[in-house]
Amino acid sequence: MSKMKAAIYTGIQEIEIQEVERTAPGPGYVTLDTKQAGICGSDLHSYFGHWNQSHTLAAGHETCGIVVEVGEGVTEFQPGDKVTVECFSHCGRCVYCRTGHYNHCLERKWVSHNVHGGFAEYTTAHASGLFKLPDSMSFEEGALVEPLAVSYRAVAQAAATYQDRVAVIGGGTIGQFCLAAAKAAGVKETLITVKYDQQAQLAKELGADHVVHIGETDPKEYVNDLTSGFGMDAVIETVGGGQNFDTALAIVRPRGAVVLVAGYFEPLEVNLSRIVWSEAIVTGSNCYGNSGMDTDFQASIDLITSGKVDATKLVTHRFPLTEVTEAFKVAADKRSGAIKVHLCQ
Ligand SMILES: [Zn+2]
Ligand SMILES: [Zn+2]
Repeated sequence: MSKMKAAIYTGIQEIEIQEVERTAPGPGYVTLDTKQAGICGSDLHSYFGHWNQSHTLAAGHETCGIVVEVGEGVTEFQPGDKVTVECFSHCGRCVYCRTGHYNHCLERKWVSHNVHGGFAEYTTAHASGLFKLPDSMSFEEGALVEPLAVSYRAVAQAAATYQDRVAVIGGGTIGQFCLAAAKAAGVKETLITVKYDQQAQLAKELGADHVVHIGETDPKEYVNDLTSGFGMDAVIETVGGGQNFDTALAIVRPRGAVVLVAGYFEPLEVNLSRIVWSEAIVTGSNCYGNSGMDTDFQASIDLITSGKVDATKLVTHRFPLTEVTEAFKVAADKRSGAIKVHLCQ
């Protein structure tokens, strides 16, 4: 069995390259030669210890690579295919899979369950999570499909149309892609709240109509002025924490939509009377599935290949896999100017 390099968490805010066994893919699984992988907000939560860290297996789920080996029973993919990967596997048979809600699959597992994910020279992933990419798509674009699909679904959950003004809370990757997906969907007007200058700059480049720098401007006052007291038709909250949920409820109009697509680690104190009074429709958005006749993943691939979303604008830093320690430091501290940090091979 050959060896390969993999990035492994070794403690809180510690990740390093180790030599690990490269195993053959099991039944239903595929091995990719990893080309590019993004560091996600959820990876940073593991890095900081908010979520479980594996001390033996590489994480990483925003992955693009070339298939090099397929396990028993895999017929849809073969060596040489350029692919990207959803972060979970699904069975294809349960009631949720059969009705297009495969993100709620009864047998859903982490796509690299018990194997190495994208922060390794070779990624092993369940074939149910794989999508073939067109030749025209770069590895970098391929590694951005996953976060775009998360945002695409969040916008779809808001069901926003040309009548709607959409606010996005948060200028990180998911927030920026929500902005881009809302623009691509043709909504009337977009507003995004940001914390860092690079986020404001990018949001302007992506065509945001209103960029609200929190700390300088109160989003509630801004929206109040902008909408003559009405509020936004839809608000997508990408940051987490009670204060941001509270802001979302404060700036949404009566009967508007609030979509939560953030990580929450502890119970929050929120004044739920706001929901009673406003009749706001509050919902979550869980990864991706089918929001329409296509999967959110395929729709996101199309948004990138058609040029409707200029995804690579989000990538501020690129490191070789061997510099993973530095890459995580940069990604974890947004004062570095980071939005999306990629590991390249
Ligand atoms: Zn992610
Ligand atoms: Zn299923």
